[in-house]
Amino acid sequence: MRKSRDIHVLVMRKQPLVNLHTMELRAVPPDPPTIAHPATAGQILQLILSNQANSRSEIGHLTGLSRTAVTARVNQLMAQGLVVEHATTESTGGRPAGRLSFNASGGVVLAASMGRSRIQLAVAYLDCSLLAEESIEADQASGPQRCLPAVVDRLYEMLSGCGRSPADVRGVGVSVPGSVDLNRGAMVNSVALPSWDDVALAPLLRRDLDVPVLVDKDVNVMTIAEQHGPLRDVRDLLMVKASTGIGVGIIRGGELQRGSLFAAGELGHIPLRGVTGVLCRCGQTDCLEAIAGGWAMVKALQHLGRDVHHVRDVVAIALKGDPEALGMIRDSGRRVGEVLSAAVTLLNPEVVVIGGDLAGAYEPFVAGLRETVYQRSTTLSTRQLRIVASTFGERQGLVGCAAMINQWITSERAIDFAVAGRNRLQAFGG
Ligand SMILES: [Zn+2]
Repeated sequence: MRKSRDIHVLVMRKQPLVNLHTMELRAVPPDPPTIAHPATAGQILQLILSNQANSRSEIGHLTGLSRTAVTARVNQLMAQGLVVEHATTESTGGRPAGRLSFNASGGVVLAASMGRSRIQLAVAYLDCSLLAEESIEADQASGPQRCLPAVVDRLYEMLSGCGRSPADVRGVGVSVPGSVDLNRGAMVNSVALPSWDDVALAPLLRRDLDVPVLVDKDVNVMTIAEQHGPLRDVRDLLMVKASTGIGVGIIRGGELQRGSLFAAGELGHIPLRGVTGVLCRCGQTDCLEAIAGGWAMVKALQHLGRDVHHVRDVVAIALKGDPEALGMIRDSGRRVGEVLSAAVTLLNPEVVVIGGDLAGAYEPFVAGLRETVYQRSTTLSTRQLRIVASTFGERQGLVGCAAMINQWITSERAIDFAVAGRNRLQAFGG
């Protein structure tokens, strides 16, 4: 009994960090009341993923399961393509001691990270390493019904280019520039893409695939990418996306926080002090974004006669030494830091991660941001605060899209449902 209690504690470390209350998952019945004893296939995968057990004998030792029971569960994981066993030279009692590991190439994930002006696409392995990636321009303003079929077409072409077929796809992860109501799988109150509001996106993306389709707000997806990287054990983290708009992803106690209506993290629409009457694209005035967002800088530089059309152009001319662009980026950092300091004081994060297009000019932007964050936050909240660049740079969104699917397919819940022989389409409400 002691061992089974240990297992329960051990596997808690690998609970899925994506909030799974999506439209696809809503139809899934609640978890069974207890799965702590005997250990399930899903729990055993958590032991393998966390390197706590890499052989059948280690699994048996940790779980107290008989050799036969361990074999049955490992076989279930292998049948799902999630685990592979490599023969090793060592042996125990004359039997080969196979090393068990996660089967990263046991399938692929399709990823689409949508910005306002470009869409990044990728085919990724199950461990989120990218097999193929590219950027396309698409007419997002025409609405998802017209835009998304072209995105899916291109993803299928990329899939085929990788020598993979739709049967290999284990999930589709999508990031969009605005809040997503996960119960409906639709964007809500979108400032960047209003024509996408209230349209269920998963059916447009799933096509004939029998797999989960997970959609979330861009900054949340970037935060999920951090949970997949070296900062995975950080329990309190803020991920700032500074780009055309400005948003923040919030991890509290290891869990991504989206708020009661999925509207958390809209840092860019918090009003600044000492500013009057500057109209924001959200309809309010004096929002942080209207002063410090990429779109506001583009507008200001165009007035100065610069040939810039996107925040990436602003970064490019700043890096070439344009003094106005450089000054605006530093000032943007200061303004973002001003608002962010309230979040730092409120939440006391261990790490603030900086990503998005403005992170392309990391030094001037973060110099400004540090200045105001440290000036305006409480001393204790910044005593051990680390401000760092995002782990995956320009690929942050794509890795996050793949990581959403990785978190789901490796979750105890998904595995144990599959093992129970449930029809996957039924489980995903399709
Ligand atoms: Zn606003």
